[in-house]
Amino acid sequence: MESVQIVCNRCGKAFPVDGVPLINTEGAPELKEKLLSGELFLRECPHCGARNLAKWPLLYHDPAEKVMIWLSDGSADTEARMKAAVAGEEFEGYSGRIVDTPGALLEKVKIFDAGLDDIALEMAKFITRQELGKDIDLLFFNLEGADNEITLTYPEAGQMQLVRIGFNVYEDCAGILLRNPDIKKSATGLCRVDRGFVECWLK
Ligand SMILES: [Zn+2]
Repeated sequence: MESVQIVCNRCGKAFPVDGVPLINTEGAPELKEKLLSGELFLRECPHCGARNLAKWPLLYHDPAEKVMIWLSDGSADTEARMKAAVAGEEFEGYSGRIVDTPGALLEKVKIFDAGLDDIALEMAKFITRQELGKDIDLLFFNLEGADNEITLTYPEAGQMQLVRIGFNVYEDCAGILLRNPDIKKSATGLCRVDRGFVECWLK
């Protein structure tokens, strides 16, 4: 177990949290269910009972889909160690990602589970952001319907807003990726594929 101290968002007191260091989707599918429901990271404060979103270093590994996602605590040493571990031959062909929040981990899992390429999806978000003309952080919500419509969310005025984009937007981005293999090549090993990653390439 990973043990961390977190500070309650209501009473401000610290308390210890134990969390699993690894979710292997083949060995522990029930942990993935808890991750998807959000339950995994919720911890009740022993002082005041408030529910808090906890976070600890966690590796998500889906061997069938060849996906490895590292929820980092920001430690450069640990990240370097994780990168070296994933650089081994046994992980060739993997999508290896680093994320910094439980929400970002959940989003990545949903993207890969939907069979989408997260780089193409980040590019589609980039385009959507430009079309909306808003400086917002978009999150993948789902892919559904006969037309494979993609729904993204973002917070505004204290509420969750939904943006629906056509699958063609995503497909156009996937096409750009095919024609520019360097983009994908720059995301081998364990790396962050987020807003900053695509802005480096598209700006
Ligand atoms: Zn509390």
